[in-house]
Amino acid sequence: MAPKTPMAPKTKSKDPCGKCDDACGAQSAVHCHLCESWFHLKCVEGMTPEFLENCKLVYEIFNASAFLCKTCRKIIGKFNKQMKDLQEQVAVLGNRITVLELEKEATTQRLAKTEMITDRVKTGLEEVEKEVENGMAKAKEEVKEDVRNEMKEREERSANIVVYGLAESKEEDAEKRKEEEKIKLEELARQLEVEVKGEMIMKFRAGKKPEGEEKPRPLIVKFTDEETRERIMSNARKLSRKDGWKTVFISPDQTWQQREEGKKVEAKLKAEAAQKTEEAKKEGRTGRFIVVGQRGRRRLTWTRE
Ligand SMILES: [Zn+2]
Ligand SMILES: [Zn+2]
Repeated sequence: MAPKTPMAPKTKSKDPCGKCDDACGAQSAVHCHLCESWFHLKCVEGMTPEFLENCKLVYEIFNASAFLCKTCRKIIGKFNKQMKDLQEQVAVLGNRITVLELEKEATTQRLAKTEMITDRVKTGLEEVEKEVENGMAKAKEEVKEDVRNEMKEREERSANIVVYGLAESKEEDAEKRKEEEKIKLEELARQLEVEVKGEMIMKFRAGKKPEGEEKPRPLIVKFTDEETRERIMSNARKLSRKDGWKTVFISPDQTWQQREEGKKVEAKLKAEAAQKTEEAKKEGRTGRFIVVGQRGRRRLTWTRE
């Protein structure tokens, strides 16, 4: 064995042997690459001349010891095992991270889809709301328009009367026809003892004249003087007692709606009259309640008949 320590230029004779603790001194020894302790060659288990040669060679080439003491080999073995375990754990964590990333991606996509659907639903609802609003606004406008038209028509008709049962003129000429009918109307006013002020305009005969039909159509007459019209209306019932005029009736010119309203009022008043008459009978009174007054101004009155 070589007398000197070939891998340890810094060797000091007083360095103790890592195994037997005696100074290495001039004896041949090897140096542990990791813990840097010195060992007598005789103290190294399984030391062979071949291994020593290898150590010398490594030192010459790499300027480092190729020897590891028993303790350091154990430590490195443990370390390697831990390293391996850690690598395995890292691999497991790596896989877990991949799974989590995939899950995150899927969640993000689901969320985006949900938001898209929510947006679509919201937009749909807004559209429906808008349609409802528009529809209601339109309906309101139509009702307003209807009311305006109705009011205008009522206003126009309020200056008119309708004369039923007044014989139609046989004149061919429209102007002459109107003139003849106006004379009849003036006679009617005289019968009712009404002095006509303002104009009395023969407007038209309502409806189409049926062929060969003798029954006169209703005549619409307009009065420019409101008082004259009022008097004609309030005296109209006198016609039923005048010879030659008994089949002539006069009524206000009303819209369809006014007539419907009038029918309802009439029915209500008749029911009321019947009920009140019943009550009067119980009290021992002789007579009954009846509905009187011109159209649009109907009311209850008591009669002993
Ligand atoms: Zn030793
Ligand atoms: Zn060592």
